[in-house]
Amino acid sequence: MPMKNVRIVLVETSHGGNIGAVARAMKNMCLEDLALVNPRQFMTEECVARASGADDILHEARVYKSLDEALADCTLVVGASARLRTVAWPQLDPRQCAELVAERAAQGQQAALVFGRERTGLTNAELERCQYLVHIPANPDYSSLNLAMAVQVLGYELMMQQPPMASPQPRELATAADMQGLFSHLEQALEDIGFLDPRKSDKLMRRLKRLFHRAEPDQDEIRILRGILSAAQGRKSARRE
Ligand code: SAH
Repeated sequence: MPMKNVRIVLVETSHGGNIGAVARAMKNMCLEDLALVNPRQFMTEECVARASGADDILHEARVYKSLDEALADCTLVVGASARLRTVAWPQLDPRQCAELVAERAAQGQQAALVFGRERTGLTNAELERCQYLVHIPANPDYSSLNLAMAVQVLGYELMMQQPPMASPQPRELATAADMQGLFSHLEQALEDIGFLDPRKSDKLMRRLKRLFHRAEPDQDEIRILRGILSAAQGRKSARRE
């Protein structure tokens, strides 16, 4: 399910290839609103190649002449910064950022995550348009991630705020009665095929019961096991005939 009300804003990106890689990261993370402020290149061959099929994000991307235009309808603006700033901007880590953005977006507010230039990041004037900064913890001596990697990490944290997409069908676990049915069938079948001596069956059956209880079989699995037992019994009686 696409995540509504979350815009990824790229400021003066130099390389079309990076925009393509961002589109791919966005689509992977269910984000679809891409805004480009004065991209130096866009829709280059490398851009399309690195989007790797996320062309719809590229085609629907909007290009703006200024950051203000790209943010005009936003009530929450978070700037992504490769450096920890000493200035008093409220600083978030990626998880806190995702919590805040997901909460506001769910209320129907428009949020934006703003990413800077490959070489120089965001200017102070651009940072002043942000209410918060988000910094991805990284090696202090080498903290600058590739643009698309930064989008990927923040997108991933946003994705983790979403309810799980498809929960597997809950298994219909075997009831106590199903288990008892299996055990008596098993005991009978083991006798029928000559594996179990009825006089000494208790200890073995106890161990087998423990094994099946540990496996927490569901009702389908009980049916399969009993089918196997019936087949083994059938073959045995067929051979006897
Ligand atoms: N050399 C630039 C970094 C440019 S990387 C600088 O020192 O500012 C391009 C963009 O990716 C950055 O402007 C930022 O938006 C994002 N980015 C890269 N690494 C990041 C990190 N560790 N945390 C948050 N954003 C990051």
